[in-house]
Amino acid sequence: MALFPQQFIDDLRLQANIVQVVQEYVPLKRAGTTFKGLCPFHSEKTPSFHVNPEKGFFHCFGCGVGGDVFKFLELHEKVAFPDAVRLLAQKFGIALPELGDGDDQDSRRDAALRETLLKLHEMAAAYFTEELAAPAGARARRQLDDRDVKASTIEQLGLGYAPMTRDALLQRLRKQGFADNVLIQSGLVVRRDSGEIVDRFRNRLMVPICRDTGSIIAFGGRAMDAEQVPKYLNSPETPIYSKGRTLYGLNLSKAQIRASGFAVLVEGYFDFAQVFQSQAAPPVASCGTALTSQQAQLLRRFTTRTVLSFDPDAAGQGAATRSCEMLVTEGFDVNVVELDKGEDPDTFIRRHGPDSYRERLRSSQPYLEYLLDQAAAGLDLGQADNRRLFLNRMLSVAARIPDAAVRDQFGDRIAHKARIAEGVVRDEIRKAAVGRRTTVTAVEMPSLGSVKEAEKALIWWLINRPDEAMEALDDVDDADLEDLAAREVFQVARTLHDQAPELLPSTLIQRLSTMNAQLVTRIATGKAPPATIVSNCIRALKALRFDRERAAIQREIDRLQQLGAPQHGDEIESLWQRKKDLLHRIEALR
Ligand SMILES: [Zn+2]
Repeated sequence: MALFPQQFIDDLRLQANIVQVVQEYVPLKRAGTTFKGLCPFHSEKTPSFHVNPEKGFFHCFGCGVGGDVFKFLELHEKVAFPDAVRLLAQKFGIALPELGDGDDQDSRRDAALRETLLKLHEMAAAYFTEELAAPAGARARRQLDDRDVKASTIEQLGLGYAPMTRDALLQRLRKQGFADNVLIQSGLVVRRDSGEIVDRFRNRLMVPICRDTGSIIAFGGRAMDAEQVPKYLNSPETPIYSKGRTLYGLNLSKAQIRASGFAVLVEGYFDFAQVFQSQAAPPVASCGTALTSQQAQLLRRFTTRTVLSFDPDAAGQGAATRSCEMLVTEGFDVNVVELDKGEDPDTFIRRHGPDSYRERLRSSQPYLEYLLDQAAAGLDLGQADNRRLFLNRMLSVAARIPDAAVRDQFGDRIAHKARIAEGVVRDEIRKAAVGRRTTVTAVEMPSLGSVKEAEKALIWWLINRPDEAMEALDDVDDADLEDLAAREVFQVARTLHDQAPELLPSTLIQRLSTMNAQLVTRIATGKAPPATIVSNCIRALKALRFDRERAAIQREIDRLQQLGAPQHGDEIESLWQRKKDLLHRIEALR
């Protein structure tokens, strides 16, 4: 059967914002990170229809429908999948490809494209480096010098300069044999409305952004002139680059992070450059936005201790707060360092030196303590109303702390500060924590009953933390999946190893049967499962499997014993052994 190339469908799904599509039919309101509205597929007065733009799916808790953007069009326009694809392409003005003949070729083509893009970025980096050294780069060199960035640091960071030319990079890369469509996909050049292709970065200081392995996958460009906008221009998302999954500088700092047991999280490239150069501590940079949970997962491979060192201005505070809360939720140890007003790590180190900065890091405050101080500041806790206000503010934070001991400790600090009995606060926190977790089970549909908790948890992980869940799935055998109600979900997921993690949720949902897609969207729309780490789900699934095997052996033993033990003695004995062995394995998994 002729199919649309998977790459085309993936690209289309990436470009077609599901909220935008659904909103053509249903008014939606933002509710946290998702959107809510009245379900178009059943009649209701209070909204139970959810759309998750980040993961690219919708789900209705009222009637149970769910799926990706294609499924929405299929249901709403009452068309089959290929027509939903055509419709969506039309809506977004994207040309349909020639129909290909299958997946295999596509994935080979994807891999080849990614290879080519990596090579292209290497060439571009070489060009920017040359330009920085050339006469055209004199001003950029001076700016770096003004900021005390040494030549050795420039080299280590691979800094460069994009000159004020229309298409010098384009011409050069064309000469090196790169085709225009690949160049456009790299994001380093852009096609204007007039059709002409020009360089994206002009008159900018260029900062290569790397994977933690060191391959260059994108660039950040800082404006040279004060009136140049935007001040920072980044590569767009490409087949090799996803902003939310990249931590700037991890490639340079990772060994030091492991060795010192913590990382300093700074905001910008120059903060990074200065902390890195001074060797005050191993830095990584979030580059202006709040950390995503994928970035936390990335960092977790090297450490779970972080010190946040952000500019204490308002914008810095907003992103910093979100980053801190996310890291706490992910179980990180988070400290914050407050510099003086108007100072960032870059200016602080240049003014006061690395030793003073190291001193500030040493005296940094645990984030939770810092939060208590912030929340208590300006509140007269002698008044009962204020105490309640303070308690409520802190409860929502406390409820997110995954570790029970840390949670209780935090509770005691709240109690102390608000002068409320410790037991009362702990109880309140427990209630708040439970409230967060039982949301999923409270709304379960009857057919979910046969899906085990561990399966639900693993499904939740697959959608919300796809890279970790996929890694965990590597440890799963076919036998572990046998008899599971959601078996198909995991089997399909295992075929998606080549998918970029950000595309995995919607691809998975698209490939599943309607029933299983709805199971997945329902679970994924709910709150995080109680199992805090994904490997626990796998252990639980393995334990379930061993228990199934144990039950089968028990049935066989019962049958043989009924037939009369004497003639089956040896057989029964060996079955006992196997059963004992299984019990050990189950025990070991607990
Ligand atoms: Zn509905």
